[in-house]
Amino acid sequence: MTCQPTNVPPAREIDIPAMREKYRHERDKRLRREGQKQYVQPVDDFKSVYEGDPHMPVQPREALTREVDVAVLGAGISGILAAVELKKAGVTGVCNIDHAGDFGGVWYWNRYPGIQCDNDAYCYLPLLEEMGYMPSKKFADGAEIYAYCQSIGRRFELYDNAIFHTLVEGLRWDESILRWRIITDCGDDIRARYVIMANGLLNIPKLPGIPGIHTFKGKMFHTARWEYDYSGGSSSNPVLDKLADKRVGIIGTGATALQAIPYLGRYAKQLYVLQRTPSTVDQRINPPTDPEWVKTLKPGWQAERHANFQRGAIEGFLPGDIDHVCDFWTEVNRNLAAELAAQGWPELSMEEFMARREEMDYRVMERMRQRVASMVKDQQTAEALKPYYRFSCKRPLSNDDYYDTFNLPNVTLIDVSATKGVEAMTEKGFIAHGIEHEVDCMVFASGFEVSSDLDRRWGFEVFEGRDGVSIYDHWADGYKTLHGMMTHGFPNLFFIGYYQGGLNASTTEQYHRQTIHCAYIISEALGRGVAAVEPSREAQDAYVSHFRDVAIDLTDFQRECTPSYYNNESETITGSDGRQKFRNFLGETYGLGWTAFEKLLQDWRDKGALDGLVLCPSPATRAPFRQQNRRPS
Ligand code: NDP
Repeated sequence: MTCQPTNVPPAREIDIPAMREKYRHERDKRLRREGQKQYVQPVDDFKSVYEGDPHMPVQPREALTREVDVAVLGAGISGILAAVELKKAGVTGVCNIDHAGDFGGVWYWNRYPGIQCDNDAYCYLPLLEEMGYMPSKKFADGAEIYAYCQSIGRRFELYDNAIFHTLVEGLRWDESILRWRIITDCGDDIRARYVIMANGLLNIPKLPGIPGIHTFKGKMFHTARWEYDYSGGSSSNPVLDKLADKRVGIIGTGATALQAIPYLGRYAKQLYVLQRTPSTVDQRINPPTDPEWVKTLKPGWQAERHANFQRGAIEGFLPGDIDHVCDFWTEVNRNLAAELAAQGWPELSMEEFMARREEMDYRVMERMRQRVASMVKDQQTAEALKPYYRFSCKRPLSNDDYYDTFNLPNVTLIDVSATKGVEAMTEKGFIAHGIEHEVDCMVFASGFEVSSDLDRRWGFEVFEGRDGVSIYDHWADGYKTLHGMMTHGFPNLFFIGYYQGGLNASTTEQYHRQTIHCAYIISEALGRGVAAVEPSREAQDAYVSHFRDVAIDLTDFQRECTPSYYNNESETITGSDGRQKFRNFLGETYGLGWTAFEKLLQDWRDKGALDGLVLCPSPATRAPFRQQNRRPS
């Protein structure tokens, strides 16, 4: 069935200027001067975040001494893709290193009840055609994704070299051997010719710095380390029967909390949901994969779906487009395209187009608010659950059980927006609106170090390139890269993630394209007998300058948003151009769009000249190489 636009209220029924003011008021209520510093790292009662593994016992082992061609730091989806693409490019000696006990990354650690992917699985799961795999439904369960990650590991024989249950704590370039020395929590001596940073975006849990958090004497855990021993049930059978006589509080109403709350509401004696900012929650619509649809798919379908999703979620549909993904991610653009089509696709300036898009944004958000009102019986609770901000200010979500949970007699929503978060914790529970609520357990669905400083995000104390230069100093004024993946002074090092490249609507597709590029460079360098490779300062400067010339400044949009990791908790930093900006959790993104960025990389590879890279052929020629790389900045 062709995807239809949604039934949103007409613009005339919304007083947009008044709503804009309401959005600002809701934002201001939540602004905290501390910005990112309101969060703390898990210590004491939360040591399990760094130590141990609730899913698999950690076996003590001797320190390793190992020499590898490529160390891929991470065994989540980006690390898996890096290893796969290296293998496909003929590079052997690839080793994934991960804190977890297996492949999977976030899907390894996060096994809280209800975990599913909020993205279309036919886009999110990489290599579907190659693996001959089809997800069982549109929004796949966490367990299915984890199993799929393992199956890629087996298929591409990634297990042979992988080092698990090993936390990388630092990296140091050793010029005398032209290798990276990898510092781990197991005291290993691992030397790698190349390193790929595939450490993900959601790898380090964070906690709200609530006064008294560690005085609480009851049970506490972060959702990324769910304790089924305490709650009862298991990740495969989340019947949380041990909570039947427990009073539980959960902090957070983001993507994670939203999936766990229906389970907590169903099983706990009493559940308090502590909400600072409501999420936007649409219906899920999660049918099993239709085998008849699968039969219609032609080779190359996944790439086409990615391109379609890119237009649906970010760039806007073109005349004649059909929305294949057809969910809440693509709603604004789908509705807008339907209206423009009905008007014969009028010529619009960029300003006019953005104004139309903004109007549709208000209409979609109004539909979401009406949805809450129609589902939640207590109107005060319903009002507190309504989101008042632009659609892309926070991550949109879908769930069919969330709102109904607030109709249960044992579930209480406590809106802590007026105090900018939970006021305090005590030995017995938490304080909200000056009242102490006693609980047996507090669950922290408080997210991850997504937009904090790099050292916190990576968890590396030491990260030194040539001449002992720290990456944190090197990038103190912002990223300086070639194509967002390599940086001068840090030879043989690649970054997968959100630094200074194109933005794809599908995180995993973006990672995949980056890994293909890195694998190409590494295989070429190895094939040419190159000992070390890095961008020249000139090439890097030229890329950064081009990047900044075409950049789209999102500062005004982000300023209007309610605080979250999407806008660095509304905390500004000084941008590379000296202006105050919000650190985007997606890094700096290429202003000409994903397709243009992909073409830039493809053209660069097609040329085969490794333009802009300085190649050090062998240790014998190291001296001139060093001189070349020591030009004054
Ligand atoms: P988030 O950072 O999105 O949410 C953290 C929650 O904690 C927010 O509701 C936040 O409120 C709340 N919070 C923080 N501090 C306080 C405080 N002092 N008092 C009260 N509440 C507080 O983390 P999640 O783990 O939910 O999600 C992180 C990301 O993980 C998602 O955005 C998504 O990208 C990914 N994810 C993806 C899934 C998928 O299906 N693909 C599923 C789950 C997660 P406030 O909003 O006010 O800051």
